[in-house]
Amino acid sequence: MIAVPSPLRLRLSSEALVANWRWLAAQGGAAACGAALKADGYGLGARAVMRHLAAAGCRDFFVATWAEAAALMPLPAGVSLSVLHGVGEDDMVAARLLPARPVLNSVEQVQRWREAGEGQPCDVMVDTGMNRLGLRVEEALGGALDGLAIETLHSHLASADDDSDQNAQQLVAFRTLREKVSARRYSLANSAGICLGPDFAFDLTRPGIALYGGMPRSEAQGQIQQVVFPEARVLQARTVPTGEAVGYGASWIAPRDSRIAVVNLGYADGYLRCHAGSGGASWRGRALPLVGRVSMDLTAFDASDAAGVGEGDWLHVDYDLPDVSAQSGLSQYELLTGLGRRFERHWM
Ligand SMILES: *Cc1c(COP(=O)(O)O)cnc(C)c1O
Repeated sequence: MIAVPSPLRLRLSSEALVANWRWLAAQGGAAACGAALKADGYGLGARAVMRHLAAAGCRDFFVATWAEAAALMPLPAGVSLSVLHGVGEDDMVAARLLPARPVLNSVEQVQRWREAGEGQPCDVMVDTGMNRLGLRVEEALGGALDGLAIETLHSHLASADDDSDQNAQQLVAFRTLREKVSARRYSLANSAGICLGPDFAFDLTRPGIALYGGMPRSEAQGQIQQVVFPEARVLQARTVPTGEAVGYGASWIAPRDSRIAVVNLGYADGYLRCHAGSGGASWRGRALPLVGRVSMDLTAFDASDAAGVGEGDWLHVDYDLPDVSAQSGLSQYELLTGLGRRFERHWM
């Protein structure tokens, strides 16, 4: 095999990741602080995220599917892994063999685990108002969980990133569940839920987006650090005379004689067309606004104010999640999970 360098890379800050986890853990007071690793650690690489956070003391990890769980084996010593989508018929072999627990989401899944789970511990999700996954409250209170060895009883907040009455309603419902359903631990809050205050923390929190630099609510402003820094290499720097167009559809016309840097980055890498008009990059502290449309593998930036930039230089693509989300209309979650396989992931 020859080593082929990629013209695209994500610089990933393990220091920022760990600092974000520590801040989130501190907000939860005595509650343990876990980490959601689904979708390959929100695009950063689940295995590396798990390694960095386990070294910092994180003990509770969450993935969506058994395939994601299998990809994380062998687990670091002393950590616990839960699979949020529970167990379908086809998952039972993996669920019995792998050192991970299902989060049971329905009366059917509970029944399946009672019959074939060999008494191994499980987590349970109860729906307190989102109507996505989870047993209904009346099912959980009506005996569906009696006698089950529940490690962690979960519910999930639907509107934690808003100042919605639904947060208090879900909190009340979850407190009732905690009184009536026996489990070793209780867990309600995602990143935004942690920012709602210590009442929401219970025994264990499950942050995702804020670990990776997302701003879940204004309370986290100034506390959460950027973790993901995309960089793309310049393929060509070219001079575009006043009045000439750049890119598909000729949507950008040079207002002056311009220097244009064309980089190896496009919508196939998750850098979507909605960045046109607001996206940008920087080089040695100089700003390079995006010009024209984003192509599949190429994007052009106006380097007129960045004298000296040329072939082979690395541009820092603007990717502060709250800012870029506000400008592009993409959610902070989409901005991370869309980042494609052509980026090499480099941890610093
Ligand atoms: C994804 C997920 C989380 C993490 O949510 P963030 O908003 O990314 O913090 C927590 N709990 C459950 C059940 C999830 O599906």
